[in-house]
Amino acid sequence: TPRVFSGIQPSGNLHLGNYLGALKRFVEWQERDIESIFCMVDMHAITVWQEPADLTKATRELCAGFIASGIDPERSILFNQSAVPAHAQLAWIFNCVARMGWMQRMTQWKDKAGKNQQNASLGLFAYPALMAADILVYHATHVPVGEDQKQHLELTRDIAIKFNNDYEVDFFPETEPVIEGAATRVMSLRDGSRKMSKSDPSDMTRINLTDDADTIANKIRKARTDPEPLPHDLDGLEDRPEARNLVNIYAGLADHSPAQVIREHGGQQFSTFKPSLADLAVAKLSPITEEMSRLMRDPAEIDRILARGAERANGIAAPIVKRTYEVVGMVGA
Ligand code: ATP
Ligand code: MG
Repeated sequence: TPRVFSGIQPSGNLHLGNYLGALKRFVEWQERDIESIFCMVDMHAITVWQEPADLTKATRELCAGFIASGIDPERSILFNQSAVPAHAQLAWIFNCVARMGWMQRMTQWKDKAGKNQQNASLGLFAYPALMAADILVYHATHVPVGEDQKQHLELTRDIAIKFNNDYEVDFFPETEPVIEGAATRVMSLRDGSRKMSKSDPSDMTRINLTDDADTIANKIRKARTDPEPLPHDLDGLEDRPEARNLVNIYAGLADHSPAQVIREHGGQQFSTFKPSLADLAVAKLSPITEEMSRLMRDPAEIDRILARGAERANGIAAPIVKRTYEVVGMVGA
């Protein structure tokens, strides 16, 4: 039976890329009545420094973002990672299955550690093993993510295969990455070669789910573009990453294909296209922003939702960890 798992880090600044690449996709799985488990991965967030008070707030805000985007905490399981010990327990086993060489090839590690790898946390290096544990501790079969997580999902498969081989069991499933939609890789509004990220120091690079209408319109107006009008076919976007990004964002928000967007808007100058995009973004995002701020007025209720979700998640994950520890030969498992 299919089971969906995915996570988002409570590292602040939940943005349009997270919405189109992840949250909006998650809702589609829930609506298909497939068992879905969604996690605020706070243990991943602290692989780079987070002020404790900020982490707490970002976790609650992310939970509000999930609900405001359409995740129903009754139909789906919604919780924070650290509240379910099974993630850390399985991650240790996977730290001993994964190889240093596999981790060293990860582009997220290289990007986030930067030039000074010696000073990066050990947790940042081991991030993909924890991510494999997040997924496999539920025997999840489908993992909807943005394009940037493809490499980590391949590594998750490698870990599952190596574990099964080493211990001669058929225990962990091979998971399927699901990278769907027109906006699987939303780019920075200021640089068409970098993805939109929570951790980008410049707020002008992204549209946050907490931005008001004026801020959204201003960021889109200031988004970097080339001087040419939009082309009349998709091939015309080939070497125009910034133009392509805005077309993809429009497509993602409108639930159209990029080809449809080009059919409707091809030939337009950005001075025409950008205001249409801003109107669309405000129309789609402002109900979410409003619902998030309403939910944030009752943090105790959010904490209750997360605690209830953790209890349900634990009910699935704890027996799988127990079985894993038995397979490994640990006494008392
Ligand atoms: P950080 O900069 O802290 O890593 P992030 O913006 O990359 O933050 P994550 O919490 O790492 O966000 O990722 C959550 C989900 O959002 C993942 O499924 C990821 O693939 C997806 N995602 C992140 N950025 C984008 C983007 N620019 N476009 C589409 N999907 C994205
Ligand atoms: Mg990320």
